[in-house]
Amino acid sequence: MKKIIIANNKMNMVSEEAKIYFTKLVAKANNPKVDVVVCPSFTNLMIATYLTKGSMIKIGAQNVCDEENGAFTGEVSADMIKSTGAEYVIVGHSERRNKFKETDKLINKKIKTALKHRLKCIYCVGESLIEKNTMKTEYAIRKQIEEGLKGLYENELESVVIAYEPIWAIGTGISATPKDIEMGVNVIRKAVAESYSDKAGRTIQVVYGGSLNEKNYQNILNTKGIDGGLFGGISLNIDSFLSIINNLK
Ligand code: PEP
Repeated sequence: MKKIIIANNKMNMVSEEAKIYFTKLVAKANNPKVDVVVCPSFTNLMIATYLTKGSMIKIGAQNVCDEENGAFTGEVSADMIKSTGAEYVIVGHSERRNKFKETDKLINKKIKTALKHRLKCIYCVGESLIEKNTMKTEYAIRKQIEEGLKGLYENELESVVIAYEPIWAIGTGISATPKDIEMGVNVIRKAVAESYSDKAGRTIQVVYGGSLNEKNYQNILNTKGIDGGLFGGISLNIDSFLSIINNLK
């Protein structure tokens, strides 16, 4: 199975910068062994889907409203995202959980709404530093898996990628060790297996995110049970990101 490389551009790049970024990405990305999904800001979604059409690059949004449409000023709905040509959406990122107070219940509703509109979900889970230091990693991840995926049918899991993102590793320059990652991934796969089936636990796509860079990604992405990586800060440097895509073994 191909590895999946996902970029979370976060709240960066005005349209002119996005034009340059996606033009270069399409021209230079070349690795038949990987699937690439880039998630720019909402305002850059149309530019991104236009410039990457027919290429190996797929596009995703970074958030979605849990409601269908109507009086929700400032929100962006799943069908609006879908209509830009985007195929994915990141849901449950720790920055949205912590800075925008998103709960597992809300995240679960967002996932259901996104899936209904045929968007694939990149569902982020992971423990905080306090949870890690108090041996609550397993509890924290299990709760997010059980509550975030509550009510989904097993066949819908084909459209869900779980991103294991320990919060203490995001944007800190301290990535988790392969041992930490293997432990987190096992918890995720076990929780999915218990809620669905052994097959679901084995086959659900799981990626790792948190301070990945050009130096550590080969090792981490080849950790047992890991299907790819979610790259935040480093994805903004187009040369580094291209090197990551093109050199992944
Ligand atoms: C992220 O925000 O999802 C992320 C992985 O960030 P970084 O790579 O910068 O740690």
